[in-house]
Amino acid sequence: MAKPIEALLDERRRYRPPEEFVARANVRDPDVYRQADEDFEGFWSRFAGELDWFRKWDRVLEWNPPDARWFIGGKLNASVNCVDRHLATPRKNKAAIIWEGEPGDTRVLTYQELSREVNRFANVLRSLGVKKGDRVTIYLPMIPELPISMLACARIGAPHSVVFGGFSPTALASRIEDSGSRILITCDGYYRRGELIPQKARADEAAQKSGGIEKVIVVRRAGNDVPMQPGRDLWWHELMEGARGVAAPEEMDAEDMLFMMYTSGTTGKPKGVVHTTGGYLVGVYATTKWVFDLHEEDTYWCSADIGWITGHSYIVYGPLSNGATTVMYEGSPDWPDKDRLWQMVERYRVNIFYTAPTAIRQFMQWGEQYPARHDLSSLRLLGSVGEPINPEAWVWYHRVIGGGRCPIVDTWWQTETGMIMITPLPGITETKPGSATRPFPGVRAAVLDENGQPVPPGGGGYLALLRPWPAMLRTIWGDHDRYVAQYWSRWNRETYYPGDGAKWDEDGYFWVLGRVDDVMNVAGHRLSTMEIESALVEHPAVAEAAVIGALHPIKGQVPVAFVILKSGHAGSPALEQELKQKVAEVISPIARPDRVVFTPDLPKTRSGKIMRRLLRDIAEGKELGDVTTLRNPEVAEELRMAFTSHA
Ligand code: ATP
Ligand code: MG
Repeated sequence: MAKPIEALLDERRRYRPPEEFVARANVRDPDVYRQADEDFEGFWSRFAGELDWFRKWDRVLEWNPPDARWFIGGKLNASVNCVDRHLATPRKNKAAIIWEGEPGDTRVLTYQELSREVNRFANVLRSLGVKKGDRVTIYLPMIPELPISMLACARIGAPHSVVFGGFSPTALASRIEDSGSRILITCDGYYRRGELIPQKARADEAAQKSGGIEKVIVVRRAGNDVPMQPGRDLWWHELMEGARGVAAPEEMDAEDMLFMMYTSGTTGKPKGVVHTTGGYLVGVYATTKWVFDLHEEDTYWCSADIGWITGHSYIVYGPLSNGATTVMYEGSPDWPDKDRLWQMVERYRVNIFYTAPTAIRQFMQWGEQYPARHDLSSLRLLGSVGEPINPEAWVWYHRVIGGGRCPIVDTWWQTETGMIMITPLPGITETKPGSATRPFPGVRAAVLDENGQPVPPGGGGYLALLRPWPAMLRTIWGDHDRYVAQYWSRWNRETYYPGDGAKWDEDGYFWVLGRVDDVMNVAGHRLSTMEIESALVEHPAVAEAAVIGALHPIKGQVPVAFVILKSGHAGSPALEQELKQKVAEVISPIARPDRVVFTPDLPKTRSGKIMRRLLRDIAEGKELGDVTTLRNPEVAEELRMAFTSHA
């Protein structure tokens, strides 16, 4: 009988980078790993040297665990690096942002045009008295004014706090309060699935709840009627009318705060993660260039929302600091039809596409006919981020979207890390479906046990980062003690604790299993929910599965599975038996779910991650915890009913 912990490591499929890809890849020499490891400060400072600085740094790193400072003495501005830097080059009239709205309207901003908008809005903010260090909350959907606002804030040294446009007024209010912002940027309304979302009304509710907001700047997006509160509310386009297109950039210290961003809240109350200017920019610049193998002529598309860290780092700061063309869209993947994304890939001849496992599983469920409608031959590289990707989903993505020719980069990182930390380098790394492979050069990761000892290859434990990296968070906004306690206290002050469980194999590849809370202990065996889920989705009837460990008086914990079936299949006691049997065969009889609950939906955060702690509460008959970050709170109640009726 295979030990349960080893099931994923039994994955034997291997994918070498195709020769045509390698021939043109930016990074081909595997020796980069050794070089970066031997002199990691030198490695990062070479990337820093490719950016524009007002003043060069004196020292690369000062490390007083757990406090790091990077590029000490260096002065720079992030907007200068994302915009101005390209204006004296042939990129001046290159598309910086290609934007498509849900009704089909489009906007293309060249670097020159982006520069003008950013400078004008920087002047607007200054005219409203916004100064270096003031936090500005941005509550916008995916429209060009979102990155323009962020870069304008960066230009004048005012840290931005972008709150995902789909969050509720309550969630927005608590983030406004926590950040102490006086300025809120929002819009009248926007489109999602053919509906007009009244954003301004929700912003008003939040501003009322939180107090402290003195000015609300309103972008006209949808043209819906909105009440404007005199003295407080101002139209973006009116403010911009008279604004000059030149605004001197603030000379920021490398360690000055660039922005704050709240975590997704998958495990609990969101934390205001603080990122600084120099280190963050160097980290996202370097990883965008190497992980996505960016070439000058590429059209790059990360389909995330800028309201998450993925969008900050890999729609805005990473691609723009590299002078890339970055695509952004308003709407959702299934509107007007389930081929929206593939239509856009074809229309813009997208070369690099980066999305999340939750989206990929959704595409699988919808079926191959949607991508098949479009010519996806422009794609040459695919990426994944946000959750562990089940090997079946990986292989589907590779075959159906990538046409079997595109390498996949499964990138592990967090809001806190700011940049991609564990990932293939697409011109070098042989990939294994389900593994994020190896730490990015210069990054040191390990799998440790309870006592901080490395587990031998083949084993599982806690993921850990053993060395500071430039884009690391510097603190939790207003709560440095929590920073120390949450991330740097599991073993010692020098070892970062991400809170994820992982394994590593004989080749030194990492297999991230998800959050530590999602690893269960059944009769003394460590089982990962993700592995059981991967076994379940191998069954032809299963579209998506979420497994949790529920408390059991004898066994400690038992696996309970919540399963969404593909259309055309119905739940039945026979199918339940079949699925239990499948898990027993693929993993081990120990992993056999105690119960399989069929459900039309799963509780997910607004970033699309399954909230397993709620499922655990349901299975254990407990009060449900905080549900404010849920996209579909009604599902929790429905599931609770399904669960009890099934018992
Ligand atoms: P919170 O910390 O508030 O509970 P969150 O952890 O979901 O929310 P994020 O920072 O958006 O907030 O997500 C980071 C987490 O996402 C990682 O810790 C990991 O659990 C998961 N993750 C991201 N990328 C991957 C990946 N490629 N493979 C496996 N897990 C991943
Ligand atoms: Mg987290």
